[in-house]
Amino acid sequence: MTGQPYWNPVLETLPQEKLKQLQFKKFKRIFIWAYGHSKFHKDLYDKAGITPDHIKSFEDIQKIPKVEKSMMRDIQNKDPFPYGDALCVPLEEVSAFRQTSGTTGQPVYQPDTWQDWEWWSECWSFILWAQGYRPRDRVFVPFGYNIFVAFWAGHYAAEKLGCEVVPGGVLDTQARILKIQELQATAMMATPTYVLRMADVARHQMGIDPATLAINKITCAGEPGAGITSTKKRMEEAFGAKVYDHSGATEIGAWSYECTDQPHGMHVNEAMFLVEIEDIKTGRIIEEPGKKGKMVITALDRIAQPCIRFDSKDVIQWDSEPCSCGRTFRLIKGGVIGRADDITKVKGVLLSPAAIEEVVRSIDGLGDEFEVIVDKQGDVDRIKLKVELMPGTSKAAVENVLKDQLRLKTNLGYRIEYYDYGHLQRYEIKAKRFKDLRKK
Ligand SMILES: [Zn+2]
Repeated sequence: MTGQPYWNPVLETLPQEKLKQLQFKKFKRIFIWAYGHSKFHKDLYDKAGITPDHIKSFEDIQKIPKVEKSMMRDIQNKDPFPYGDALCVPLEEVSAFRQTSGTTGQPVYQPDTWQDWEWWSECWSFILWAQGYRPRDRVFVPFGYNIFVAFWAGHYAAEKLGCEVVPGGVLDTQARILKIQELQATAMMATPTYVLRMADVARHQMGIDPATLAINKITCAGEPGAGITSTKKRMEEAFGAKVYDHSGATEIGAWSYECTDQPHGMHVNEAMFLVEIEDIKTGRIIEEPGKKGKMVITALDRIAQPCIRFDSKDVIQWDSEPCSCGRTFRLIKGGVIGRADDITKVKGVLLSPAAIEEVVRSIDGLGDEFEVIVDKQGDVDRIKLKVELMPGTSKAAVENVLKDQLRLKTNLGYRIEYYDYGHLQRYEIKAKRFKDLRKK
């Protein structure tokens, strides 16, 4: 078992045509389930004049109304308390509560049954196996084990694979690093922000070179950093480890993963999820590679609070090439590129914060932290970038290359403020580096 490359050799190499048949069969099953067990879903579909009988072909799926996050917020705290009527199982079958992080508004509650948790860890098993986790690995999980789903299912999946799992729970960053060192842990899971934070603390507060730790692979989630080339490079160099991207969400599940071939993109687990990419302007479903749109996703097996054609706002694009690893699951090129919400217009130019991150992290002499602030002076947009200079680096040494690269990659001019190393805010989980003051 350990020598074989796939967690599920049948599903992960199924020809696309067969995968599509499987997705259609599963989609119909979850749609009938939700229609029959939740007032929220039945009302939504009845209003659109769609019943399970109308879904006769794969193309019919596109006619089904999407579910927006705001709809899920509206039903919270209603009967059955606290989830509302999207719940498809009796309350006594719910075995786990989680909630979304609330970065884009009031948190949404997420109920799961025990079967759903089995499903979560199965999805994560695809991820970890594809990233080279094997039973001999000792996996350190440095996160707070709380109401946020984060790496909970990753923990269970690592156990399912037969790895040895060390829960890093309430330990502070220094204690976590000491434990990793003491136990010679070989793998860990964290947000890109926290991976860089750990490297920073090890180096500058503890005098430990993180590359001397036994960590040889890191699974990232929660932020796009592992899909941003310069950020990934910083993480890989700091720990002397492979860094793999993964994207998932509380209300969706663990739907994608990068494999050890590192194709600069992520596989969509097409046996467990149906991913559609929708043109942001026209609403058309994009099948062709290389065209960006927002993801509409269905979790094909999740039962307590189903996720059917959920409008995730993640901006993605299909890759044109199959992956060299042999998996038939399609790749999304460059991972999650951004969020439809985040991509905002500044001085009439579309700006993605990820593009600024790519530039800042590609320049030696600049620290990992940065901050972007957009505001208005009169009618004119202004954009300010705060960066840190590493000890021994002068402003003159980086100024020109930073300005040029920003202009080249984002088509915008910035007011740049330079700070000494250690002066910008540090984050433990997800960073808030982009502030748009124009909205207030
Ligand atoms: Zn692959």
